[in-house]
Amino acid sequence: MLKKLSVSTLAFGLAAGAFMIGASGADAAGKRQFIAIGTGGPTGVYFATGNAICRLIHKSAAEGRKTGRKHGIRCSAPSTGGSTYNIGQIRQGELDFGVAQSDWQYHAYNGSSKFKGKKYGKLRAVFSVHPEPFQIIVGKSSGINGWNDLKGKRVNIGNPGSGQRGTMEVLMKAHGTTTSAFKVATELTSTEQSKALCDGKIDAYGYTVGVPNAGVSIATDGCGARIINLNGSPEKGLVTKNPFYAFATIPKGTYKTSSADVTTFGVMATFVTSSDVSADLVYEVVRSVMENIADFRTLHPAFRNLDPKKMIKDGLSAPLHAGAVRYYKEKGLM
Ligand code: GLU
Repeated sequence: MLKKLSVSTLAFGLAAGAFMIGASGADAAGKRQFIAIGTGGPTGVYFATGNAICRLIHKSAAEGRKTGRKHGIRCSAPSTGGSTYNIGQIRQGELDFGVAQSDWQYHAYNGSSKFKGKKYGKLRAVFSVHPEPFQIIVGKSSGINGWNDLKGKRVNIGNPGSGQRGTMEVLMKAHGTTTSAFKVATELTSTEQSKALCDGKIDAYGYTVGVPNAGVSIATDGCGARIINLNGSPEKGLVTKNPFYAFATIPKGTYKTSSADVTTFGVMATFVTSSDVSADLVYEVVRSVMENIADFRTLHPAFRNLDPKKMIKDGLSAPLHAGAVRYYKEKGLM
């Protein structure tokens, strides 16, 4: 049996911005401490993830001021280049936390793939979030129905630093091809790619992202783009050989053009930090999220099935941070 990620979706398009969250302007209570969480492009799910976490931290700070259990953590979650950028910035001490694909968490911690010779042993897992199927989104009139049709086309492989860029490179290698097979390989960001597809500047793009999301719906619901199946032997090989890949289904009805289920392979979005970040801080962040998990589930459709029992193990390959372990043990989750 091949491994499967369960992707749940709402069966309708979602309006961009409907789930954008602004940080609350909470006053200082405990000792103030500012933290930054690395996310992804503003129309993706990482941006919603980081901002949801900040919102829950500010909520628990506000509650703590009433009950006397104070913490002074203030949080921001700026848009960034994505997974590998976030891991690099955590390593530099520029970010305290970040969202990263489970494949890049694995490779960073183990010093493999893109991180060969650059092993980051201090990387720590905090929890996993939503499943992220890798998707090739193709233009309405591109004539692309499968991987082989990408030959000679204009394909966006993603900006350097994004998770999808790395996963696209892995997939090209699994198919025994390089960017020279494409007419053009662009490096647009996740924010630029849907517009470029709708404007006819590219024929397809690769994106690893939670389902559904505003960025993809700009192309599917906006200009008839489709998501193709990626379930041939190269993808089966990737799933069989790597613990962090699993097959996923994007259900019929997810977007306006989703007339049938799409099968592809994917990863998990994970929340990571460094062992240099204090256990007390990580404990408070984890506590804020887990005590408010019901709220978290409502902050984006990709979060609706979040389950703490799975979040503390699925997709995690770096060791859990000591502050996270403290909370999970206290709650009997571990
Ligand atoms: N998986 C993408 C990355 O690692 C980001 C997806 C998102 O922004 O939701 O860059």
